[in-house]
Amino acid sequence: MKVLKFGGTSVGSAERMKNLVALIKSDEPKIVVLSAMSGTTNALAEIANSLYDRENDKAKKLIDALEKKYEGVRKELYSKEASLSKGKDLVKNHFEFIRSFTLDMFTANEEKAILAQGELLSTAMVHYYLEEIGINSVLLPALNFMRIDENDEPDLKYIEENLKAELKKYRTPSNSPHRGTGGLLFITQGYICRNAFGEIDNLKRGGSDYTATLIGAALACEEIQIWTDIDGMHNNDPRIVDKTFPVTELSFDEAAELAYFGAKILHPTCVLPAQKRKVPVRLLNTLQPDAKGTVITEKTPTDRITAVAAKDGITAINIKSARMLLAYGFLRSVFEIFERYKTPIDMITTSEVAVTVTIDNPRNIDAIVKELKEFCSVELDKDQTIICVVGSFTAEKQGVAVKVFDALKNIPLRMISYGGSENNVSVLVESKYKKEALIALNKGLFNL
Ligand code: ADP
Ligand code: ASP
Ligand code: MG
Repeated sequence: MKVLKFGGTSVGSAERMKNLVALIKSDEPKIVVLSAMSGTTNALAEIANSLYDRENDKAKKLIDALEKKYEGVRKELYSKEASLSKGKDLVKNHFEFIRSFTLDMFTANEEKAILAQGELLSTAMVHYYLEEIGINSVLLPALNFMRIDENDEPDLKYIEENLKAELKKYRTPSNSPHRGTGGLLFITQGYICRNAFGEIDNLKRGGSDYTATLIGAALACEEIQIWTDIDGMHNNDPRIVDKTFPVTELSFDEAAELAYFGAKILHPTCVLPAQKRKVPVRLLNTLQPDAKGTVITEKTPTDRITAVAAKDGITAINIKSARMLLAYGFLRSVFEIFERYKTPIDMITTSEVAVTVTIDNPRNIDAIVKELKEFCSVELDKDQTIICVVGSFTAEKQGVAVKVFDALKNIPLRMISYGGSENNVSVLVESKYKKEALIALNKGLFNL
């Protein structure tokens, strides 16, 4: 079994949906994970925001505009009466559901239900299209097996058990829709899941990648393919730097660091399930299906600097206390506060009397600062960016550091993290220096 995930651009229009057929029609058994059409989740989030702000007229206009877009896609996608009519009911039902939230109070649960509509629509639309052209497929409801626990972490055991139970329904010849048609083709929604209370929830923005790797891990699949709009993981952020190139091979560790530190092609934590079960992940380009892309495996490449990524929205927290000098237990009392507020720390630097940590989730920052201030002085630096140089630095560590700092010699560095792993050298800069830093590293590390 293989898992193939197609992102927003890959299902972004009727034409793109039709083009998917060539990539998924082979007889090999596969699970196809689809995102919402590009722009849809943003549009749904905007609708939800208007409803939060009680701007119902604005929300209704946005809903009408989105429905119009889907009506256009429906008419372009289908040519037979039966599918045109099924598509019409589908679009109508989903938009009636979204509209129902304009009538009453709006809560976080309702927001999540709205955000789920994009993936529910795209999967059903592709499923009906396949039906129209005579290809059998099964629509697997992700809400029946994809689940997060009370800490918002995927519950792999639950996912495995329930996904297998769901698939088992199609194993017996009597109810298999695939009798006589060769391989099994399942289609499911990326991103959406249920939470520990059974409510509709999601795996955070970009979460369809995570759905794919969770399914791949749960079924110990042969391979997970992430199909997107670029030919693999590039050595630098192509949205910011002009000259970049695809990296053909990555280790799980390298890919995990790049994803976590801002390489948008992968959801920040989606590498972990694949790494846990050693399932290779291939990054491929729907617009250029023959391009080699990137393969992510356990194999650790030899010494090299692989790629650079950047993560914005970072806050540095400087914690100072004379009590830290020669004291043990001080850092523990600091970290306990972050733990209590479920706020992960990304970078840390220490001196004799101070420690600076960075966080990317400022939700509980006021409460954290208040508790820290009970035993130390605290200063915050907002609008910071972590620039992360990833590679395999086993032997050449010093050389790497020299190259990184030399490339960045004109940029003020707020923090440096080096030696924590053999895969990563990170620096913290003010966000206004991000572009300059990425360009300088492209030149200094890759001669581009
Ligand atoms: P999808 O909708 O298919 O999930 P995304 O937009 O989430 O696609 O991810 C693909 C995009 O990631 C690319 O178009 C590219 O602009 C961006 N990106 C950022 N950093 C990198 C990188 N290092 N390598 C490749 N793509 C990157
Ligand atoms: N549709 C969701 C988003 O836009 C999930 C995804 O595309 O991976 O974030
Ligand atoms: Mg994505």
